[in-house]
Amino acid sequence: MSEPEIYGSTFLGQRLEIWLPPSESVRTLVFAGIHGEEPETSVVLSRSLRALAEPLERCAVVVAANPDGLIRGTRGNARGVDLNRNFPTRDWQPDPVTHRWVVEEPSEVVLSTGEAPGSEPESQALVALVEKLEPSRVIAMHAPLACIDDPEASPEAHWLSEQAQLPVVSGVGYLTPGSFGSWCAERQLPVITYEFPRKSVEQLVLDHLPALTQVLSGSWPFD
Ligand SMILES: [Zn+2]
Repeated sequence: MSEPEIYGSTFLGQRLEIWLPPSESVRTLVFAGIHGEEPETSVVLSRSLRALAEPLERCAVVVAANPDGLIRGTRGNARGVDLNRNFPTRDWQPDPVTHRWVVEEPSEVVLSTGEAPGSEPESQALVALVEKLEPSRVIAMHAPLACIDDPEASPEAHWLSEQAQLPVVSGVGYLTPGSFGSWCAERQLPVITYEFPRKSVEQLVLDHLPALTQVLSGSWPFD
C-alpha cells in the first residue's frame, strides 16, 4: 500500500486521505466510511487495496470519507451531521433526519443535515475531489442493505451484482435529499451504491475481496 495524498481535513482536524494512481486519468473513484457506524466498509476496502499485486492504475480510493465519525462510532461527523444528507444539491433540506440503530427498529436517531448545503468540511472536500478528478463513475460503499443500488441499472452494477451475489435495485425505498447520489445525479455522474449485507467483517472480506480487487486493479471489464 503506497502513501496516500491528502484531499482535505475533517472538523476535528484529521487528514482526509486518498490513494491515487500515478496517471492523471481516474476512471473509477471508490469511497467507504462516509457513515461512521459502517466501519466494515472501510476495513474491507482497505483490505482490498492492500491485497493488490500491482499499484493502482485507473482507480482512486478513499478508505475513510468520515474519519471523525469512524473514531467516534457515529453515523454523522463530529458535529452530528449525516454527511450523506449534506451535499449541495437542489433538493437539500434543512430539517433533521432520523435513522435506525438497526434495520428492525423505529427510525429515531436524529441527525442534522448541516447548517447549509455542503456546510461540512468532509462533504466539501469530497465535492472538490470529484470536481478535480472527474472520474467516469463513483462507487460508494455502505451497509447493511445488501444490494447494488444504481438508478441506471448499468452494466457495471450488474457485474458487481453477479460478483457480490447481491440484487441490483434502483433506490433504497426512501428519499435521500442532499445525498452524494443526488449530487452526482445532478451532474450526470454515474454512481453505484454498494451496500454490504449484515455480516461479520471476516465474512465480508471473503465474499467481496475478489470483486473489489478487480475494480481497484482495473481488471474488471469496464476500464
Ligand atoms: Zn451508509
